[in-house]
Amino acid sequence: MSHSEHPSALRPETDVLTRGFDPSLSVGSARPAVFRSSTYVFSSPEAAERAFEILGGRAQRSPGESVDLIYSRFNHPNAQILEDQILPLEPGAQAAAVFNSGMAAIMTALLAVLSPGDSLVYTVPIYGGTQTLIQNFLEPFGIAGIPVTAGDSQAIDAAIRGARNLKVVLIETPANPTVLMTDIKRACQTASEFGFVSQNGREAGRPLVMIDNTFLGPAFQHPLALGADVSLYSATKYLGGYSDVIGGVALTRDPTLMAKIRSKRSLFGNILQPDECWIIDTRLPTVILRMNRQSKNAQRLAEELHGHPKIRTVYYPTLFEDAEQVRIFHDQCTYPGGLISIDLQGGKPAAFNFLRHLRLARNAVSLGGVETLACHPRSTTHSAWSAHDLDAAGIGEGLVRISVGIEDWRDLLADCRAALDAI
Ligand SMILES: *Cc1c(COP(=O)(O)O)cnc(C)c1O
Repeated sequence: MSHSEHPSALRPETDVLTRGFDPSLSVGSARPAVFRSSTYVFSSPEAAERAFEILGGRAQRSPGESVDLIYSRFNHPNAQILEDQILPLEPGAQAAAVFNSGMAAIMTALLAVLSPGDSLVYTVPIYGGTQTLIQNFLEPFGIAGIPVTAGDSQAIDAAIRGARNLKVVLIETPANPTVLMTDIKRACQTASEFGFVSQNGREAGRPLVMIDNTFLGPAFQHPLALGADVSLYSATKYLGGYSDVIGGVALTRDPTLMAKIRSKRSLFGNILQPDECWIIDTRLPTVILRMNRQSKNAQRLAEELHGHPKIRTVYYPTLFEDAEQVRIFHDQCTYPGGLISIDLQGGKPAAFNFLRHLRLARNAVSLGGVETLACHPRSTTHSAWSAHDLDAAGIGEGLVRISVGIEDWRDLLADCRAALDAI
């Protein structure tokens, strides 16, 4: 947990293994212990008083001061360890907070900043849960949600400039499942030029840019380094990596913003529990390794499947044809990532038969695990959408999304080809 004396020039793959955990605080264990306690014994009544002053924001922690833990809904050692160890993986991050799901991270970051009367610009398509959160919860609550098409930089600029009391620009890139990319840097620049003044005239500032970085982060896309304020994750996906845990993370450049997010987390009670923190912590040192392998596998698969007579389109960043999409991909991402979507000739029956005949890839939603998963978005993850919206977003009847794992890509290709033959 002590990292202030740590050399800062280490690369992420090294830093993630050497910072953020002090074995002497865990009876010398080489890996962190699990501290499964709901409450913490104070070193003195004065220390308890001090801890509550700092928790309540009535005092600031002085540099190097160690503050007693209080109660595990506010904070606990495994959350602290995970939050320290994840920082080097996200260039530009100064603070992190872990949550009991990706949705909890998104909701808490939004509610730390938004109040009734404010507005929020967001890209569509966006994760279904996020869309429902905005439309069925934030809007009735008095927060205006303004959808803009992912990848359409001009429309995003116009929405930012035209919104009243705009507090947040929420971007998910690449968009699911068509991997359409949105220019993070440009949205940050536009947001920084257009400030807001609240209705009572007392508050002024600029809208914050939050990025759902689940699909390409933390390995291949670094939103904070591009100017974003918050990077959000479903840790259930690549960070967790084994399809065995639900979790979420928010990272910021600004510790003051993180203090606001943490204080909402304490109130909502959605901090990640110690065991889950420990599990995700064990996965951090391999996330870049896993994602590199998944991206290489996916690229080989996508490029081999491209042009197959039974496939209409393969959606994958290295196959982009639109010049603007190619530019964003090259400017913003280091590698194309592990997600492929294929639009099959023959619509839904073809897609269902393809899924039925896969032997290695399993038919399941979710993504980012070491095993390959495939699903039919139109009838599952995106089934609540209208036919019009699905068609507009390119989510056709024949579309299958594949989250590529770390198997040998030649076996995966043979599996896909055999399933295509069986259609
Ligand atoms: C899965 C996912 C979420 C929600 O995360 P949970 O951990 O399931 O709550 C949010 N955004 C994206 C892009 C996701 O893939």
